[in-house]
Amino acid sequence: MAKIIVVGGSLGGLFAANMLLKQGHDVILLEKATGLLNGRGAGIVTHSALADALCEAGIQVDDSLGVLVKKRVTLGHDGQCLADMDLPQILTSWSRLYQLLKTNFPEDRYLQGKNVHFVNQDSDQVYVSCADGSKFTADLLIASDGIRSTIRAQLAPEIKPKYAGYIAWRGVCDENRLSKLTLDTLFDYFGFCLPKGEQMLGYPVAGQNNDLRPGMRGYNFVWYRGATESDELIKLLTDDEGVFYPTGIPPLKVSKKNIEDIRQIAKTHLAPQFSEILEKTSAPFLQPIYDLRSEQVVFGRIALMGDAAFVGRPHVGMGVTKAGDEAIAIAKQIKNLGATPVALQAYSNERLKIGQDVVARAQYLGLYMQSQGQKNSLEHDHVKRNANTVMAETAVDISGLLATGKAVPDGFANTSVKN
Ligand SMILES: Cc1cc2nc3c(=O)[nH]c(=O)nc-3n(C[C@H](O)[C@H](O)[C@H](O)COP(=O)(O)OP(=O)(O)OC[C@H]3O[C@@H](n4cnc5c(N)ncnc54)[C@H](O)[C@@H]3O)c2cc1C
Repeated sequence: MAKIIVVGGSLGGLFAANMLLKQGHDVILLEKATGLLNGRGAGIVTHSALADALCEAGIQVDDSLGVLVKKRVTLGHDGQCLADMDLPQILTSWSRLYQLLKTNFPEDRYLQGKNVHFVNQDSDQVYVSCADGSKFTADLLIASDGIRSTIRAQLAPEIKPKYAGYIAWRGVCDENRLSKLTLDTLFDYFGFCLPKGEQMLGYPVAGQNNDLRPGMRGYNFVWYRGATESDELIKLLTDDEGVFYPTGIPPLKVSKKNIEDIRQIAKTHLAPQFSEILEKTSAPFLQPIYDLRSEQVVFGRIALMGDAAFVGRPHVGMGVTKAGDEAIAIAKQIKNLGATPVALQAYSNERLKIGQDVVARAQYLGLYMQSQGQKNSLEHDHVKRNANTVMAETAVDISGLLATGKAVPDGFANTSVKN
């Protein structure tokens, strides 16, 4: 039995901590936040690999995981259906997954208020110092401390998130506030709307307290729009008191004026169903979109995983599934090779290229999304063709493509953005 520290108590860290504890290791999880992390994210698209990761973590998956959606639709500016596609998928939420993983992990091993600010290692051990003065030692450390990872910043300071040039407005609208038109033509579907150079998408998710009953659910939306880094982004990341949040504005701090503006823009840019959803969502929030690509994820006895290692733009719908896959790889290698640097290196050999491919694939989908509107044609056939491509490529299972090295189209990998 080895001593293993996991840093970061969100989904990635909880996947790894649960799997390693199940193997019999002495696992401690260090999370800087205090209180429940519930309500952080909104909708999460699931793939079969996510169910595998939950199973590896010791969690049985049943129908309560999320909402089954059978079809995708693209709505035109006038609200008419331009194209549709059968594509069954389960849509869940960050809170539901967090609740499943957190309740499965012993409370006395999930230490909150532990802001890791320094790590060190020698040939035998890893040493961790937290901001409150507490110190820990372990045989291995798994860093799942997110896109702004303190541990990555210390070990590989050259790897930094790179702004993709656009942001996502997000939110969840209560089902019971929606009109009959929106309920009949959009609510049950994974829906898209493709204004020029932009992309709106949405899907139904469980409501409060994971309520899956009709009438009690929500519709989760994500609206991608360009925002120049030098001025528009600054305005969007500034609250009503004039405070600027350079790395992301907390949801409840988003400026009321910016929310009012985006609701007005929705009326002219989006199908009326999506505009209604934006109007009736009580607290829309926004997130800048970043790429994060690592060239190295293992440093002796320390491994990066989840968003600390790679962040693909959300078009791949893989943030959580990727973290689950990485946790499976780490746990498998430790089981086979012991809690050693050799096991972590084997994890890196297995996952480094896949992580890089996920980032590149997400960049490819993002560029496609941006360029599809730039051809200046909103003629029916043109939009329909693009609608079919967007529906077929967004947030679908790409495990087969990743396994065969075909996730990134020929020629794209060499031109894609690097950190
Ligand atoms: C606010 C938020 C909303 C999200 N919404 C979605 C979504 O809707 N759909 C989707 O697919 N994905 C979403 N994600 C991303 C998704 O949750 C991640 O891709 C997935 O959880 C794997 O990321 P992670 O656990 O590695 O990192 P994160 O989820 O970013 O978690 C990192 C954790 O590490 C903790 N931490 C950071 N620094 C330290 C430190 N120095 N010491 C100790 N702890 C530290 C943080 O408090 C956090 O809990 C969201 C993430 C966040 C944070």
